[in-house]
Amino acid sequence: MKNIKEITKEELDTIKVVTFDIDGVIAPTGTEIREEDGGTKLYMESKPLSEKFIENLEKLEKYVQLNFSSGRNILYLKSLVNEIFDEKTILQAENGSITWLNNKITHPIYSDEYFNQLRDLKEKIRKMKKNDKRIRGFEPKLFILTVHCEQMEEIPNLVKKVAGDNLYCLWTNEGYDIGNKETSKGQAILNLAEELNIEPKQIMTTGNNYNDAEMLKVGKGVSVAPDRVEAEYFIEHKPEELGGELLVEFLLDYYIKKEQFSISN
Ligand SMILES: [Mg+2]
Repeated sequence: MKNIKEITKEELDTIKVVTFDIDGVIAPTGTEIREEDGGTKLYMESKPLSEKFIENLEKLEKYVQLNFSSGRNILYLKSLVNEIFDEKTILQAENGSITWLNNKITHPIYSDEYFNQLRDLKEKIRKMKKNDKRIRGFEPKLFILTVHCEQMEEIPNLVKKVAGDNLYCLWTNEGYDIGNKETSKGQAILNLAEELNIEPKQIMTTGNNYNDAEMLKVGKGVSVAPDRVEAEYFIEHKPEELGGELLVEFLLDYYIKKEQFSISN
């Protein structure tokens, strides 16, 4: 892995889209979910983006298209970036299951069997939750199942038992994302490149977790947690800093200097 500072001008000049993972990359990690029995009450709290970062995104938009790719649902993603949202903004929600592009939402067609497996899993986990304090609840999603819980073998084991190898079950630091193996953040980047008629490597991708591994590989990947997930590049940051915020500053510095240079020449 190379430090992002080593990226060449030629590489930077080909970038058309910058893709941001959210949690741990541009927003502090940690969503609190509490679900009462019967699922009648849901409490969810997430951290917003910093004001300075939003200002920087507005500047960056002049040079590249912005894409936000997350395991979170589309409503959360849209609300998070609503201040800068316009027809150029791209959203990819639920680990690549949903794409908002050109003000239109698209998603793959899933079988009844898939939805039945998710429903079956949800029911079984809900039963486990009654006697297991480690399970806190479910985050609202359309196409994947997200359980908030401690790291516990019982969940991936259950997924295997119910669906064999058809589903992924990825640890997210606050629970498990369970979904269709055909869909991933990486596949969503490949689809996006096709839609935009560009090469996948013209899409810069960022991430800090296992669900980011594929999109870091297919795009121009920048890992903000190189000890956890690999990419061609990494960005150094202190524990109290967000790698995605630093990347935007780095990119702005490049684009603004380049612009000034071309004006003065
Ligand atoms: Mg993340």
